[in-house]
Amino acid sequence: MVKEIASNLFSVSGNGIYSVPVFVAEKENGMLTLIDTGLEKDISAIIKKIRKRWDSLEKIERIIFTHRHPDHIGGLPTLIEELTTISAPESTLERIEIICHKDEAKYFIEEQKTDPVKPNRLVEHNEIIDQELQLRAIHLPGHTFGHICILAEKQRILFLGDTIMQMFFRLQPVFKKFHDDYNLYLKTLPKMLEFEWDYAIPSHMKPVKIPREKIKRFIEKRIIS
Ligand SMILES: [Zn+2]
Repeated sequence: MVKEIASNLFSVSGNGIYSVPVFVAEKENGMLTLIDTGLEKDISAIIKKIRKRWDSLEKIERIIFTHRHPDHIGGLPTLIEELTTISAPESTLERIEIICHKDEAKYFIEEQKTDPVKPNRLVEHNEIIDQELQLRAIHLPGHTFGHICILAEKQRILFLGDTIMQMFFRLQPVFKKFHDDYNLYLKTLPKMLEFEWDYAIPSHMKPVKIPREKIKRFIEKRIIS
């Protein structure tokens, strides 16, 4: 299902609740920025939904990765393959920005076993990724060393990546064993409150908008105290 979560911001889910949605930001001219590519098993369904909603994959001009874990980059090879049916392989990667944080790049390439797709733009903390869309990268290391949250400043929405999950209405961190550095994660998490946003959206389960107050309470209770 393609769901409009705010003006010009959408989520496109795969099948079942254990899918990681792809988030889409749409420009005035119809060009699309994707956030993450979800699980490998879901990408065909997601591609179908993007084609149905936006006619063609040609409108994709950029993919931003919150981090390198397989449930966030798993769909990338198939998506690139599909995009390559539209243009030649070399021009696909010239045309499309593949973005992650500079500290994630090495792991991002290592994580993909064969023919890795290399990021062609590396961002830093606080960098504006697109002027029109006003998407800002917020580096919150710990879950992975180069993990970024994406702030959609116009809509005042923060895409949390894997910093906080909501399961059965309760906020919680991703299981400890899936973190690069859990202590670093706890230390950097409050940094998200230095930015202005009203709702946050986690990557896992069904896309939900969590009010800032709830996130703030979670961070204060679980992390700071
Ligand atoms: Zn993760």
